[in-house]
Amino acid sequence: MDYSGVRAEVFEFIQKAVKEGLTRASAGNFSIRTEDGNMAITPAGVGYDVLRAEEIAIVDLNGNHVDGPKRASSETPMHTSIMRHLPNVGAICHTHSVYAMTFAVLGKEIPMINLELLMCGAPIPVAKWACPGSEAGGEVTVDTFKQRPELKAMLLRNHGLVTIGANLKEAYSHALDAEVGARVYFQALQIGKPVELTADQVQEVFDVYS
Ligand SMILES: [Zn+2]
Repeated sequence: MDYSGVRAEVFEFIQKAVKEGLTRASAGNFSIRTEDGNMAITPAGVGYDVLRAEEIAIVDLNGNHVDGPKRASSETPMHTSIMRHLPNVGAICHTHSVYAMTFAVLGKEIPMINLELLMCGAPIPVAKWACPGSEAGGEVTVDTFKQRPELKAMLLRNHGLVTIGANLKEAYSHALDAEVGARVYFQALQIGKPVELTADQVQEVFDVYS
């Protein structure tokens, strides 16, 4: 299969993430499920300032190398685990965005306080600790994602953020919204008590937008 299209897409979005402050250096990793049932993912340890699209790795959903000159991200087991258990997920964004990480280290969920967080299916919970790069990294999120189909973002305890979507554009949009929501929540906490949206208000917004 020709993987140049999915590679270009992963490359484009990881560059966008660096530009928009969602990640830096070689931290975080993005993936797309390919048409032939494999997965395209950013490679391990390559700085995004020097990364080339053709270096995006292709692996199967057990993490075995399929194509590409570089080893897949060390956090590949988290992505493959999510993709194996959640067949509707077409793409995953894992970022080390700083406001999301702030709540991840506090173990504090982000409540439903604005439209950005509503798009992510807030409240955004904190998954229990799993070592980055371990199979458990994905498994700790799978049950919650399954139980709450509206949920598109989760904090990884003392680590970062993971978002899912039908495609990379969608997963990326959730990553951006989660970070904006986390920042607003953080800032609001500095000067007062953020007011949460009620279930009725959330429904009201859904009625307008759907
Ligand atoms: Zn990470």
